[in-house]
Amino acid sequence: MIEHPVERPGPGTPVTVLGLARSGIAAARFLLKLGCAVRISELSRTPAVRQVSKDLEEAGALVENGRHTREFIEGSVLVVLSPGIPLSAPPVRWAAERGIPVVSELELGSWYCAGQTVAVTGSNGKSTVVSMLGKILETAGRKAVVCGNIGTPLCSVLNRIGPETVAVLEVSSFQLEPSLSFHARIGCVLNVTDNHLDRHGSFADYRAAKARLFAHQSHGGWAVLNADDAVSLRMSREVRAQQAFFSRRKEVTGAFLRGGELWLNLPGLSGKICGVEELSLQAPHDQENGLAAACMAGLLGVAPEISGRALSSFRGLPHRQEWIAQRDGVTFINDSKSTTVASGLRAIEAAPGPVVLIAGGRDKGGDFRPLSFEAVARKLKAAVLIGEDGPKIAHSLKGTVPFKKARDLGEAVRTAFGLARPGECVLLSPMCTSFDMFRNFEDRGEKFTRLVQAMES
Ligand code: ADP
Repeated sequence: MIEHPVERPGPGTPVTVLGLARSGIAAARFLLKLGCAVRISELSRTPAVRQVSKDLEEAGALVENGRHTREFIEGSVLVVLSPGIPLSAPPVRWAAERGIPVVSELELGSWYCAGQTVAVTGSNGKSTVVSMLGKILETAGRKAVVCGNIGTPLCSVLNRIGPETVAVLEVSSFQLEPSLSFHARIGCVLNVTDNHLDRHGSFADYRAAKARLFAHQSHGGWAVLNADDAVSLRMSREVRAQQAFFSRRKEVTGAFLRGGELWLNLPGLSGKICGVEELSLQAPHDQENGLAAACMAGLLGVAPEISGRALSSFRGLPHRQEWIAQRDGVTFINDSKSTTVASGLRAIEAAPGPVVLIAGGRDKGGDFRPLSFEAVARKLKAAVLIGEDGPKIAHSLKGTVPFKKARDLGEAVRTAFGLARPGECVLLSPMCTSFDMFRNFEDRGEKFTRLVQAMES
């Protein structure tokens, strides 16, 4: 169990939960189960929020919708903050003024987590890597629960985590930002590229949030870093735990690529993981993800060949460079989860042929200029741009890659299909969030898939 810096809430402890989305609901339910005096404060009043508020009121919580009240915060000894609420929000300031600790739902859950913890953060690849590690542990016959930012809050699965279980946690920068003490036995930063700059303000702040993963680790823990990513690698200076690395370019202590094969090289455990051609997903970023997962599995005592076996049958997650269909020789790929420029570049790199890209949505402060760099522009035949910030992407493409604008996704798919020739790809990799036009990235990817499937070949 992770040490905690404040007294753990118990029966009667007044705790306020700020924000009633997935993690807020899980935190509130868990705190109610502990017998705490739970107050919940949520700004929105949608029918869904009102319904869940009613349920939580019936379970004993005091709930307010449509506003945040100072007394809710000031009467509490702990505030649990939803990742959707920035640290600059008034209720967080009220807590700070009174010296009331503010933590994420993940940190709260970690105080009660009986199993070993592995935490994975990074700008891209988190969900994929935690899923890979879950699959490896399952193949090794170990008990594992994959949770956190991937969509299952830790507080909602604590009852499934015993001392023998490995809790594999996907952690976002928003969950790390308010961290008081959060740490895992194994912490991994996959990569750090521009992301969420709209909320963090600067790259330095965003990087610092990620580095908090290591701030409270003990000397006996492990930090796993990407030796090919300068920002991740430089974090090694801030780490006090033991260090392991993964790399496609160098032979490191950890996991690396050599002569078309993945290798594990840890003190006391080393050997071949598998050949690249045995991986079910083989693009460069898939190799990186596989190396990161196998390295963490190795630190948990899993033999390299077991990791290799699991990685060779790992199916990618939906909406991440997902093959959808071929129509008249044109391949359609759904990469709706791509909300950063870095992930878009990886998808273009991995696409099997020249690309007609569908991109745009609500930008998070990314820099789209790399799309016009020669190596990318050569593969990018054309772009069809949608959404609020499509014009920003257009600005970066001007003079290098032809582009068209589309009013909606249906028009974008038709236009892109019209531009693509046999042997080419239509790739939805928006590099922006979906919230200007869709409910979420799943909704965007599902609509794309349906539009493609409905097309006659
Ligand atoms: P996250 O949980 O960090 O958002 P996902 O695994 O859901 O990561 O993938 C999000 C996007 O990033 C997808 O477009 C995927 O193809 C891409 N991606 C996956 N792994 C990497 C990586 N190692 N580097 C860059 N992009 C990646």
